[in-house]
Formats: sequence, C-alpha cells, structure tokens
Amino acid sequence: MRRGPPRDLLAKLWGGPPELTLGGVVLTVNGDGALVERRLAGGELACPGCGGVLGGWGHARPRPVRVLDGPDAGLVPRRSRCRQCGATHVLLPAWCLLRRADAGAVIGAALEAAAAGAGHRAIAAVLGRPASTVRGWLRRFAARAEEVRVFFTVLLARTSPDPVMPAGAAGPVAAAVSAIAGAAVAVAQRWPELGTVPVWTAASAASGGLLIAPGWPGQGRNAS
Ligand SMILES: [Zn+2]
Repeated sequence: MRRGPPRDLLAKLWGGPPELTLGGVVLTVNGDGALVERRLAGGELACPGCGGVLGGWGHARPRPVRVLDGPDAGLVPRRSRCRQCGATHVLLPAWCLLRRADAGAVIGAALEAAAAGAGHRAIAAVLGRPASTVRGWLRRFAARAEEVRVFFTVLLARTSPDPVMPAGAAGPVAAAVSAIAGAAVAVAQRWPELGTVPVWTAASAASGGLLIAPGWPGQGRNAS
C-alpha cells in the first residue's frame, strides 16, 4: 500500500468508487498525465463496470478545453481498457466536467458570480463566453441548487470532525455555492498532505464530473 492519502481520496471520500464513471468515462481526481500513466502501469485504476484492472488503450480524440486565463488547454484524454471485461473507458482529469468545453474553474467562476448576484450577461462579458452558454450553466445549476447544497453539506459534515456549516446565503444558488466551498475547505484541513485542491476541481471530483449535468445529484448517490 501507498503511504499517505491516496490520490483519489476525494472520490473515495465522497462515497463513490475511487474513479467515477458515466457513459464510459472515468474521472481521475488528479489529472496529471504522468501520474495517470504510473497508475495505469501499476494497475491502480479499477474498471467501474467490473472492478478489474484498467490498462492503457491509446488516446481519445484531442479537444480544446477553455480555461480561465490564457489559451485553451489541449486535452488528449487517455483511454483505458479493462483486462477483465474488455470494456474501454476514457480517463478524464477532474478539472474538467463531462461534456463541457469549459474547465470546471470557468463554470465555477460563473456560479460564484451568480451567487454574488451577477446576471448571466455580465458574467458572460467578464468570462468572454457567449451569454447563452453562461445562461445554460446557471439554469442547470439553479434547477438542482437545493439538491447540490444538500449533497455538499452532507460531505462537509462527514469530512470535518467539527463542521462549520455555511451561514445562511441569499438564495439557493448562493447556498449551494457556499456548501461547495465549505466542503473543499474541510477536505483541505483534514488532509493537508493532499496539497491544494482547487475548489472547483474538488466539486467536479465529488460529482463525478456531473456538477451541472441534468439530474445530478439524483435520488441515489450513484444513480446514473
Ligand atoms: Zn471491467
């Protein structure tokens, strides 16, 4: 066994399998390419379907991911294949969200601004994104804000021995955003060895990349 907390601690903590999957995608909490290669080589990644060992299996199509500052990140997701059942899974770093062209930090920045009362047009102007795109993020999030708040509040309570619940916030979106921030802080305090885990990476990891996907969180924690 490895010393210290596992790199996939966040995903473990959130109660799901170490790597979470939907639609054949496996989310790796630490997206560092060299680390993912080592974990593949070491047989440390488990098939979400059968629990078998995942091995490398080429790469998925390259795609640009828009980030907060600077040019797009060129993401070339690693593919993997289960040695037991033969299923293939794409390994996606947790700073991404599933099926989103913007990094979690970009969408998170929009949610934080909305929590502070900004409208979608103003946010879109600041982030340099189309207003319709930002409006879509905010609508998705707002539609599930109470469920998201509950999800992260439960995680916060489980993580911290002495949880400090977020103070009352102005509206469900703000309450959900402060619950996410609170859970990320609790993780950082409990496991300082993890180093800095950006709040929106933690949120993506906790949600299996589904933070603003329709229907997340569902009735069951692992519902797909
Ligand atoms: Zn398998």
